[in-house]
Amino acid sequence: MEFTIKTTKDQQFINITSYVRRAVSDSGVKGGIVTVFVPHTTAGVTINENADSDVVADILSGLNKAFPVHGSYLHFEGNSHAHIKASLMGSSCTVIIENGALKLGTWQGIYFCEFDGPRNRKVYIKILSDS
Ligand code: ZN
Repeated sequence: MEFTIKTTKDQQFINITSYVRRAVSDSGVKGGIVTVFVPHTTAGVTINENADSDVVADILSGLNKAFPVHGSYLHFEGNSHAHIKASLMGSSCTVIIENGALKLGTWQGIYFCEFDGPRNRKVYIKILSDS
């Protein structure tokens, strides 16, 4: 299955854990794995702290210090910083499903990472059952 996200900023982290939970719940799968895949080259997905939103703000600011928007890049589109950040975060993550629930750590959330927005983005979800 897939869903779309309308990002609202040039760069932002959006907590998509509830979308993934809903997909797992709707699937009826009690045990297995769920893969979340982002089919874009300037956006990614990562798992990190869900409690203090300053954490993802700090991740974004750290990425911007390392890879400034207006850096010395070759790529003609002028968005190399976004391509680099997307590769660092990665295009997929996998979470274990146990007893019908995501087996995440207490403080973990799944974040869609926009680096070249705002845009309409897609997220693919694939759920595999182990029974
Ligand atoms: Zn580009």
